[in-house]
Amino acid sequence: MPVSGLPPYDPSNIFARILRGEIPCRKVYEDDVALAFHDINPQAPVHVLVVPKGQYVSMADFSANASDAEIAGFWRAVGKVAKDLSLEASGYRVLTNMGVHGHQEVPHFHVHIFGGRNLGRMVPPAKD
Ligand code: AMP
Repeated sequence: MPVSGLPPYDPSNIFARILRGEIPCRKVYEDDVALAFHDINPQAPVHVLVVPKGQYVSMADFSANASDAEIAGFWRAVGKVAKDLSLEASGYRVLTNMGVHGHQEVPHFHVHIFGGRNLGRMVPPAKD
């Protein structure tokens, strides 16, 4: 089912290509439903992306259309990755960008895990 805010899923997006093994990534974790890898342009000492293997454009698409097993498996993978990266004691941030106001660049649903330093509070002031 199409969701508002973004075009339909484009299988040529960069994360789809990583999932198909067409371009490399620095893999952190993989299971049946999710793949995690280091962000190519890290914004924190630890900056890892977790993507579902299914073709979902955004958080809106994933939450509306993924199966219960995909949703449960995906979020368990996010928690496991953060734990395996030893971020639990110091804390970390999980973030997903959705659509235009969220500045989503890659149209394949993903979450960012940030850690390794004090990340400050919430959302920075608007610049545009
Ligand atoms: P977003 O704005 O949430 O869509 O963020 C997309 C993220 O993907 C950015 O943080 C990019 O640095 C990251 N990114 C883009 N291309 C790659 C790639 N080939 N490998 C790893 N991360 C990437």
